[in-house]
Amino acid sequence: MREYDIVIVGASAAGVSAAQAAVDRQAGQTILLVGEEDRRPYKRTSISKSFADDFERDAFALLEFEWYTDNAVDLEIGIRVERIERRHHEIQLSNGEVVRYGKLILTLGARPRRPRFSESLRKAVICAVTIRDIERLRAAAVHARSATVVGTGVLGCEVAEQLTRMGLETHFVGRNAHLMDRYLNPQAAQYLTELYRSHGVQLHLQTATPRVHHRDDAFELVLAETGERLRTDLLVYCIGLEPRTELARRAEIAVNRGIRVGPDLRTSDNDIFAAGDVAEHPGGVLTHLWRHALEQGAIAGANAAGADEQYSVVPFRVKCEVFGHYFFSISRPPKHELARHDQREYQNGRYICAYLRRGRVQGVIMRDDKDAQKRYMQAANEHWEIERFEQEFELA
Ligand SMILES: Cc1cc2nc3c(=O)[nH]c(=O)nc-3n(C[C@H](O)[C@H](O)[C@H](O)COP(=O)(O)OP(=O)(O)OC[C@H]3O[C@@H](n4cnc5c(N)ncnc54)[C@H](O)[C@@H]3O)c2cc1C
Repeated sequence: MREYDIVIVGASAAGVSAAQAAVDRQAGQTILLVGEEDRRPYKRTSISKSFADDFERDAFALLEFEWYTDNAVDLEIGIRVERIERRHHEIQLSNGEVVRYGKLILTLGARPRRPRFSESLRKAVICAVTIRDIERLRAAAVHARSATVVGTGVLGCEVAEQLTRMGLETHFVGRNAHLMDRYLNPQAAQYLTELYRSHGVQLHLQTATPRVHHRDDAFELVLAETGERLRTDLLVYCIGLEPRTELARRAEIAVNRGIRVGPDLRTSDNDIFAAGDVAEHPGGVLTHLWRHALEQGAIAGANAAGADEQYSVVPFRVKCEVFGHYFFSISRPPKHELARHDQREYQNGRYICAYLRRGRVQGVIMRDDKDAQKRYMQAANEHWEIERFEQEFELA
């Protein structure tokens, strides 16, 4: 039986970052990185932003193959971990092999939410989460005339933009009144919404999840509010992601919405860590951003290799760049807390909204000042005084 000091399950942002940190912390350890996708780890964030143009198979790879061999990290792709046997420190792979671990790091990510579909509908609908999904979507889009994207969050916006750029008649269906409602304020969201309209995207907003039929290689969506029937060649769902907890749940590791971890990213089992989209942090926090997955992976990897580091979630911006415009949001107060904040808005080509408490910046929404994005993030995280904020960004 093969044995490793550290086994990492899930080969993406958090998994690769964990492997790098474990190597940096202590050379000479034996490390196995297993991932079920069929190619070497890649930058997931890039796949939804540029598929209107063709791309090479390994266009978004995070590291060259040499990095894994040079650092004696065994990378096994196209293999799923089926079971964790905690008592014996073993995992079972989808090829039947059993491997023993000293420490185990779970970086299993998240899977797309979708309505309850029949098996055939499930296969026909695309959820744009893996590079395989995007390749399939691209290949189908080349021959299609129309597409419908359900879900108007960041991912939905990116996918709808790319399909429009490919020349498809694009329909965009969402529950809220505006696009990206969760992160933007009404002004920025309205601007984004109008941007899609101006590019000919047909918006169906404030619409509950539609009923769907699939026949003759096309979909028919029934929009409950209007009774309208929409015929479309392609159907893409981007209605959110949920942590992939089932492997941990079956192994009786503590799970809530995600796999529960402490500040050192240990799970309820001392020898098992979790990081990235699959992890749930104290206070029930799920992070679901690339940068956070990298940071958590680094800490889990270092700790599995003997360090004693702590993780605390520092807010990071959410951005969306579509049709040549850049939208940015960090720490927008939730709706129920808005009344406790002052709000200042500035317009002059760009748009900026600062949320304030006691004269200090708590959150920022911004459009079209991309070059300054890092400083906006700094302003929100360091709670700059409003005078400094206005001076720095020449807003006064
Ligand atoms: C299309 C898309 C675009 C995005 N764009 C942005 C963006 O612009 N900015 C941003 O901050 N965030 C973005 N995100 C979110 C970001 O990609 C995630 O936060 C990040 O990928 C999380 O990294 P992870 O390593 O935790 O999980 P994932 O990247 O989800 O990787 C988990 C991996 O584990 C594998 N796995 C799961 N179970 C098993 C098993 N049992 N055995 C073996 N392997 C397994 C999965 O197949 C997957 O490859 C985007 C997400 C998507 C889907």
